[in-house]
Amino acid sequence: MHVIARLKSALLDAWAVLMPVECGGCGADDRSICTTCISAIVPVTTPRSSASGLTVFTALTYEGIVRRLILAMKEQNRTDVARALAIPLSAAVTRGLALGDGVELVAVPSSRAAYRRRGYDPVSLMLRHGGHRASRVLVSVRSATRQKLLGVEDRATNMRGSLRARTPLGGRRFLIIDDVLTTGATIAEAARAIRAAGGEVVGAATLAFTPRLRE
Ligand SMILES: [Zn+2]
Repeated sequence: MHVIARLKSALLDAWAVLMPVECGGCGADDRSICTTCISAIVPVTTPRSSASGLTVFTALTYEGIVRRLILAMKEQNRTDVARALAIPLSAAVTRGLALGDGVELVAVPSSRAAYRRRGYDPVSLMLRHGGHRASRVLVSVRSATRQKLLGVEDRATNMRGSLRARTPLGGRRFLIIDDVLTTGATIAEAARAIRAAGGEVVGAATLAFTPRLRE
């Protein structure tokens, strides 16, 4: 099915359950995401390179409607929006899975504080809606300061040591999944934790990237 048709179908399902509802992108009285805002979440999967040298496939640009939708999902309990955002994330995941054979998905876990605040994990929720299975191999071992308040170097320092593998990962290969690629500090920390447990990282996939990363 064409991607726009899939997006509309996902949103009509959500609408039927949750109406009346405001569009998570523009606030119009409509469904989870109105027809105008749907066009903003058609994926354009793009391979990028994180600061630590990993290939990261991204689907959307974190600005405007996309930014508002992601914030609605993460900060306003709009779990209905996750159903639609699962479709562009899946496009990036599919590209990432082609980086190797036998690759498992691993979602970057929410910090404990964020999980307590929200009651759900946005990345895992999107993966489930996209029909993907993620291996629960990483655990958040301490709550880093919220990254959005920090610059590039402080983000890397803040993240270091914040994730840990639950078990030895020798012989297993992973694609790291996160919501937004900003400086790449979170993905670098996930890769460090996987490698420290003996696993291999083939790359990463995120729903969106922050455009100030452009050269
Ligand atoms: Zn809208």
